[in-house]
Amino acid sequence: MKSEDVFNKSPDHKTQNRESVLREGQEDCAFDGAMLTLVPITDAAHLIHGPSGCINNCWGNRSSLSSNSILYKARFSTDMDENDIIFGGAKKLYNAIIETQRRYKPAAVFVYSTCVSALIGDDLNGACTDAAVQTGTPIIPVDCPGFVGRKNRGMRIAGEALLEHVIGTAEPDFTTPYDINLIGESNIAAMWNILPLFEKLGIRVLSKITGDTRYKEVCYAHRAKLNVITSSIALLKMAKKMEERFGIPYIQECFYGIENINQSLRNIAAKLGDSDLQERTEKFIALETSALEEKLAFYRTSVQGKRIVIDTQELKSWSIISAAQKLGIEVIPISAVKSSQEDKARIQKLLGKDSIILQQNTPEEILQIIHENKADMLITGERYQHTSVKAEIPSLDIKAEQNHSNAGYAGILEAAQKLYATLTSPVWKLVHKPAPWENR
Ligand code: SF4
Repeated sequence: MKSEDVFNKSPDHKTQNRESVLREGQEDCAFDGAMLTLVPITDAAHLIHGPSGCINNCWGNRSSLSSNSILYKARFSTDMDENDIIFGGAKKLYNAIIETQRRYKPAAVFVYSTCVSALIGDDLNGACTDAAVQTGTPIIPVDCPGFVGRKNRGMRIAGEALLEHVIGTAEPDFTTPYDINLIGESNIAAMWNILPLFEKLGIRVLSKITGDTRYKEVCYAHRAKLNVITSSIALLKMAKKMEERFGIPYIQECFYGIENINQSLRNIAAKLGDSDLQERTEKFIALETSALEEKLAFYRTSVQGKRIVIDTQELKSWSIISAAQKLGIEVIPISAVKSSQEDKARIQKLLGKDSIILQQNTPEEILQIIHENKADMLITGERYQHTSVKAEIPSLDIKAEQNHSNAGYAGILEAAQKLYATLTSPVWKLVHKPAPWENR
C-alpha cells in the first residue's frame, strides 16, 4: 500500500493513520531487537555487517551491566560503503571477523546482518562458517535485517540463532535438581535483584538469556530443569522449542510487585517438584515480606495520599506503579501512544481497565491533566521534564537506560526510596522560585 493510500484510507482514520505511519518511521527495527537480546552476552564480540549508521542508531539504547568482561561494550562494524554495495561485502566481513578475533580473543563473535548487507545478498552464513574454521572460535550469524519487522521480531530471531548455533554445544561441569534458566531480562539491572533470591533458596541459575551472560553458560542451557521467562514474551517461542527439543518445561513469571514475586517463587518451587524446597520458599517469602513491609512503613507515612502522573511510554514504567500503590500513592497513567501491548496489559492489570488516559501527548495536555488531578509529581523520561517545571511539581526520570531496576524485594524498596526522595526533596522549592535577578 502506498503511503498516500494509508493516509487517505478513510476520512475518520486519516489523522490516526498519518500519525501511526510517521511514528513507525521513528521506531526500532528487527536488527535493534536482536542486538538488544544478544549484546548482554558480555564476553562475546558483536559485529555488525552494514553501514556504521545502523550501529549508532541502536547502540547503548538499553543498559545492561556486566560483573566481568566489558568486551560487549565495544562497537564493531564492517562500515559498508558504496564499493561494498557494488562488489559485495562478504570478503570484508570475513576479514573483519578474523581481525576482531585476533585482536580481542572473544569467547564468540555474533555477526548481525542489516538491511544493506541483506539486500545485496552477502553470504553471512558462509563468511561465518569460514571464519569459524579459520579461528576455531564460535562465529554466530544473526540474520536480522531491519526490514523484516520490529524489535520483537528481532528478539525472536536472536532466540532462534541461540537455539540453532549455541544452546546444546557444551556441557556444564555438574548439574543439580535445582538448575533453572532465566529468560528475558536483558535490558536493565533486574538480574542483580532477582539472582540473590534464588541463591538464598538454593536454586541455581544455570544460564541467563540474557543479562550479565557468559557465552559458555548459554551453550549448556539445555541441561536446566526449568525455563523461567521473566519478562519479554518475544523469547517465548525459544522456550517452547527448548521444551520440544530438550524436554525443559517453561513458566512465565513476574518479579515486580510483592504479590507477583511471592507467587513466582512459589510457582518455581512447585515446578521443581521438591517439597523441602517448597517449605523453604514459604518461610523465605514470609521473612522477606515482613522485613520489606517494615521498611516501607516509614516511607508510607510520609507520602501516603500523594498523587503522581506517570508517562507509561518509558520502558517498564509500570514497574514503579506497584511500589507507588504499596505506599498508598494514587497513580494516574498517561500516554499509551508508544507503550507496547504487553506493557498496556500490565498497567491495566495493576490499575484496572480503561486506566490509561490521553492517547495523544502534547506537553499542554499533560499539564492540563496534572492541574485537573492536582498531581504532586510527574514520572517521565527526559521528554517531559520541563513540563513538570512548568507545573511546579517534582519530576522523577525513569528512562530505561538507567542502571536500576524495580524488580525483586530490593527493587520495591529502591522504588519507594526514589519516590520518597523525589516527593520530599527541598530542591523543588528552589527550582520553582524565581531567579534572584528577576526580583531586582
Ligand atoms: S538495520 Fe535497516 S532499519 Fe535497522 S538501522 Fe539499519 S538500515 Fe535502519
